[in-house]
Amino acid sequence: MKVNQADIVISAASKKQYPKDLIPEIALAGRSNVGKSSFINKMILRKNLARTSSKPGKTQTLNFYIINDKFHFVDVPGYGYAKVSKKERAKWGEMMEEYFSEREQLRATALVIDIRHKPTEDDCMMYDFLKHFELPVMVIATKLDKIKKGQRKKQLQLISSTLQMEEEDLLIPFSAETGEGKDLAWRKMLEYLNI
Ligand code: GDP
Repeated sequence: MKVNQADIVISAASKKQYPKDLIPEIALAGRSNVGKSSFINKMILRKNLARTSSKPGKTQTLNFYIINDKFHFVDVPGYGYAKVSKKERAKWGEMMEEYFSEREQLRATALVIDIRHKPTEDDCMMYDFLKHFELPVMVIATKLDKIKKGQRKKQLQLISSTLQMEEEDLLIPFSAETGEGKDLAWRKMLEYLNI
C-alpha cells in the first residue's frame, strides 16, 4: 500500500478516549525496545511518526495513528521492563484487558519479537493473551539484518515452537533496516483489514 497520509489521532490513556469511528485497526504489541516503533515507521515510510525507544515510567498510552484515512495502527505500550513497579504492571494489564477484550474495530495484532532470541516468557504470555481473545496474530520477527542468512530457518523454528504458534498465524521475518518482509506484512495486514 502506498501511504499518502499518516498522523497521530490520539494518545489514549483510557477507553473513553479511543476514536469512536468504525474504521478497522491493527494493534502492535511487543517487548519494550524490541523495534516496534521502527516497524511502524518502516511500514509507513516515515522517519519518526512513532516515537522510538520510549522510556519506562512514562505515562502509558495507546497511540492511535490514522493511515490514508482508511485504518488505524494502534501502538500499545511495550512490556517486559525489569524495573517496572507492581502498580505500573497492574495498570498495563488493565489497559490491555480493556482494549483487547472489547475493541470491535480490531482485526488483528502484529506481535513484534526479536529474531535473534528465543521468545521470552513475556512474549509467550502476550501471544497467549491475544489468542485468548481469538485474535489473528502476525508475528513479526524483526532485526533480520542482524543474523546470518544461515541462521534464519533455525531462529524462525525456535520462535514458532516456543510461542506454540497456531497454524492460522503467520511468522514474518522483517528488518526495519533493509525493509525485508515489508511487502508480505502489508499483504497480510490488508487481508485482515479487508480494505
Ligand atoms: P521500541 O521501543 O519497541 O519502539 O523499539 P525501537 O523501534 O525504538 O527500536 C529499538 C532499537 O532497535 C533502536 O535502536 C532501533 O534503531 C533498533 N532497531 C529496530 N528495528 C531494527 C532492525 O530491524 N534492525 C536493526 N539493525 N536495528 C533495529
